[in-house]
Amino acid sequence: MAKYIFVVGGVMSGIGKGITTSSIGVILQNKGFKVTAIKIDPYINVDAGTMNPVEHGEVFVTDDGVECDQDIGSYERFLNRDIYSDNYMTTGMVYETVIKRERNLEYDGRCVEVVPHIPDEIIRRIRKVTKNSKADFIMIEIGGTVGEYQNLLFLEAARMLHLRHPQDVLFILVSYLPVPKMIGEMKTKPTQYAVRTLNSAGIQPDIIIARSQVPLDEPRKRKISLFCNIDKDDVISAPDIDFIYEVPINFEKDNLGQRILSKTNLRSRKKGKGLKRWNNLMKTIKNPKEELNIGIVGKYFDTGDFTLADSYISVIEAIKHACWHHGQAPVIHWLSSEKYHLAKGEARKNLKKDLGNLDGVIVPGGFGTRGTEGKIKAIEWARRNKMPFLGLCYGMQLAVIEWARNVCKLKGAHTTEINRRTKYPVIDVLPEQKINIREKNFGATMRLGAYPCQLVKGTRSYKAYKKTNISERHRHRYELNNKFRKELEDKGMVMAGINPERDLVEIIEIKKHPFFVGTQFHPEFKSRPLNPHSLFREFIKACITSSRSH
Ligand code: GLN
Repeated sequence: MAKYIFVVGGVMSGIGKGITTSSIGVILQNKGFKVTAIKIDPYINVDAGTMNPVEHGEVFVTDDGVECDQDIGSYERFLNRDIYSDNYMTTGMVYETVIKRERNLEYDGRCVEVVPHIPDEIIRRIRKVTKNSKADFIMIEIGGTVGEYQNLLFLEAARMLHLRHPQDVLFILVSYLPVPKMIGEMKTKPTQYAVRTLNSAGIQPDIIIARSQVPLDEPRKRKISLFCNIDKDDVISAPDIDFIYEVPINFEKDNLGQRILSKTNLRSRKKGKGLKRWNNLMKTIKNPKEELNIGIVGKYFDTGDFTLADSYISVIEAIKHACWHHGQAPVIHWLSSEKYHLAKGEARKNLKKDLGNLDGVIVPGGFGTRGTEGKIKAIEWARRNKMPFLGLCYGMQLAVIEWARNVCKLKGAHTTEINRRTKYPVIDVLPEQKINIREKNFGATMRLGAYPCQLVKGTRSYKAYKKTNISERHRHRYELNNKFRKELEDKGMVMAGINPERDLVEIIEIKKHPFFVGTQFHPEFKSRPLNPHSLFREFIKACITSSRSH
């Protein structure tokens, strides 16, 4: 029988439920168990594909092509394994299935009700993951915070599952303990309220992860224990730290793994200390040889006073993994492309000022018009100044446009995403996408998920991957237009990776440049801290060389 661990949040959002869930998974893996994780998002959207990254953070994509929450990316990075579409659930998805079933007369004429039919469907989905993953532990992170209306039905499902299998279901509350400046003391009351609210949904937490600026002291642990009806040793201190990959190590300081095993009547299947690879990783992270300055040119950075690194989280993580691999400390610079727009006068100065001191630049994925001309200018700057460049999806498409305009002299060359009437549509919509766009059928209709790609020997990409056949994840509607392929190649652009089924260009490169690579796919989705992505590794290697030469 699999064990289920529900992770819920108290007091406020943004306190790291995803990282907590992933880290508990790592601890259990290190005790010899097979672990998988499910993310539940309480919104009505059927998936994350239609959401703006500024609001929701990055849209992550799995191998089997679901557009999902970035927490799935954290699970993959920490657990070092692929997670599939079944492990992601939204209110929209659950209701869609129930309504479809009702329309198909599958409820035998009964009245279909919110309870029990919605929680039943939630449980059915959880069981499906149990069956397919064959995992010993299923971690289930319920999005949102206890006490809000949206996630109630998921809590109800969790309660029902616990009722049926009391020995196999655990609840972990991730709560926040503020240290208000004017009081100067850590306060437990909001956590007490969160537990009461959870109690009113019929759930008693087994373990409380106490997030705070600083570690919890004994009096605070005792207080939470007394008022929240929980053993003192089940209150786990989770202070703010600099590196998320240290969280599993920190949890283990309070013996979290052992607490979970004793509550589920299990014994560790591994001898020794475990977490060795994570300890080694932390040693590398904390003792870098040098700093490396990498720029990300994008447009999803500004939301009011906050800069939302969440929009590009996988790209950032992939950069870090590769830097650590080479013993470097990454310093990431957020460059808003809009200020490079005209690249004349002030804008040209901005470009030189921003990019001049970098060791490498990345133009990540994106959609629509805003900021694109500035990105093209930044790409041109990197090409001419021989600065290592990595273009991801839109970044690759814009690199092709830059090449077409400035090297092949195809004036006004563009993507039809922005200019449908351009004389030189070097990037054009995939044929099957035309209908989707015309009929406004935007949900889950892009070219999504893993597709094979064949690498051309002798290219940089081949050198990075060290093999011919690779598989990478996609999320796009537009592609390099094969009608222009020859013209681009004649001037020296190298088509380094091709999708063999449809003859689509998946990677472009430029010779006589320290590193200039663009990928139609998103390599960042497959980078892991213990297994950095080959292309990012090669890119960072080129950045190190170029940094040493200036
Ligand atoms: N907007 C481009 C397309 O749809 C690129 C998408 C992306 O960067 N993910 O093809």
